[in-house]
Amino acid sequence: MMTYSAQTRVALSDPEAIIAPVCEHMLEHGGVARMEGGVRVLEFSGARARFNLTEDGTLVDVEANSLESLYFVRVAVASHILEFAEPAAPIIVWSGDGGEMARPPNFQILRVTDIRDITPHMRRISFRGDNVARFARMDALHLNVLCQHPDLAAPQWPTVGSNGLAQWEDPERRPRLRKYTVRSLDVAAGTLDIDFVIHADAGPGSALAETVQVGAEIGVIGPGGGGLVDADWYLFAGDETALPAIARMLECLPAQTRGKAFIEVSDKSEVQQLKFQAKIEVIWLNRNGAAAGTTSLLVDAVRSSILPNDGSSVYVWAGCEFAAFRQIRSHCRSELGLKKDEHLVVSYWNRGNSSE
Ligand SMILES: Cc1cc2nc3c(=O)[nH]c(=O)nc-3n(C[C@H](O)[C@H](O)[C@H](O)COP(=O)(O)OP(=O)(O)OC[C@H]3O[C@@H](n4cnc5c(N)ncnc54)[C@H](O)[C@@H]3O)c2cc1C
Repeated sequence: MMTYSAQTRVALSDPEAIIAPVCEHMLEHGGVARMEGGVRVLEFSGARARFNLTEDGTLVDVEANSLESLYFVRVAVASHILEFAEPAAPIIVWSGDGGEMARPPNFQILRVTDIRDITPHMRRISFRGDNVARFARMDALHLNVLCQHPDLAAPQWPTVGSNGLAQWEDPERRPRLRKYTVRSLDVAAGTLDIDFVIHADAGPGSALAETVQVGAEIGVIGPGGGGLVDADWYLFAGDETALPAIARMLECLPAQTRGKAFIEVSDKSEVQQLKFQAKIEVIWLNRNGAAAGTTSLLVDAVRSSILPNDGSSVYVWAGCEFAAFRQIRSHCRSELGLKKDEHLVVSYWNRGNSSE
C-alpha cells in the first residue's frame, strides 16, 4: 500500500507508439514492467506507475511511498512522455498529491561560509545548509551546483511546474548545472565542503569557484551517483576532478581493505595529504604540467595493474576525462572481464566540450 498518489490524463496521437518505448526506456533505469488487465504497470523501488490507454486519452496513475519518490516518478513519466512524443508537446497536468510542492524536494540553498585554496588549482568551498544530511551516505556523494546566469542580479531558483518538472521563471537565463562531489560533511554542524578544480577554459562551474564570495547563496540539486560496492581489494583511478570522490571513499573504507589508488595531477604542487585507515597504496601520477586530459597516464596505470587472484573480491572505480574513461571501461569489461557489480567507470568531463 503506497501512501501518495497522483494522476494525469494525456492526449497522445498514437499512445502505444509513445507509451511502449517510455516503459522500455524506464526498464533501463531499474524499473520492472508487467501487464495487468491491458494496463501497463511499471514498478520502481518505492514507486509504481500505471498506463491505461483509454478512448479519452492515456490515463497515468503514479503511487509512491514518500512525497519525494512521488516527485521523481512524476518527473520520470512526464519527461519521458515529452521526449518520446517530440515534436508534439502534449499537455501534462498532475492532480492528486504533490501539488503543494513549491520547489523540487532535492533542491536546497546553501550559504558559502569559507573559501580557501588547498593546492594551486583546487579550491575548497565550505557551505552551510539545513539538510546536508542528504549527502551523508556513500551512495549520495554527488550533487549538481546551480551556476547562475551572469546577467542576472539575483539568483534564480527552480519551482515545480504543473507537469511535475522543474521550471524556471526566466528559462532563457536558467542556471547551468555542474556536477560536484561532497568532499566532506559535518551533519551536526550543518556544513559541507566541495573541492573545485580551477581549470583553463573555465566553464560556469570553475568560474563560480573563482568568483564566489563568502555569504553567497548557492543552489544545489541532489544527491546523485552510485555507491561503492563492498570488496576486499579496490583499484581506484582518477584525475583531479575525481580526487574529492576518491579521497572521501578512501576515508570510509574499513582498515583491513587493500588495494591501489592512482591519482593523476598536473604537477607535484597538486598532491594532497590523504588520511585514511585502509591499506590502499596511493600512487600520484604527475603530468609534469601537461594539460589535463592529454596524457595516457591513468589508462596505462590501470592497464598495468594486476588484480589479486587469491579469491579476494575486487572492485574497480574510475572517474576521469571522457577518452580515458572509454579506454578504462573497455579494459575493465573486455580484458579484466569484470561484472557490472565489480566496477564503476565514469566520465567526469569531456576535453573541449562543456558538460551541458
Ligand atoms: C559525478 C561527478 C562528480 C564530479 N565531482 C567533481 C568535483 O568534486 N570537483 C571538480 O572540480 N569536478 C568534479 N567533476 C567534474 C566537473 O563536473 C567537470 O569538470 C565540469 O566540466 C566542470 O564544469 P565547468 O563549468 O567548469 O566546465 P564546462 O563548462 O563543463 O567545460 C568548459 C571547458 O572546460 C573543460 N574542462 C572541464 N573540466 C575540466 C578540467 N577538470 N580540467 C581541464 N579542463 C576542463 C571542458 O573540456 C570544456 O572545454 C565531477 C563530475 C562528475 C560527473
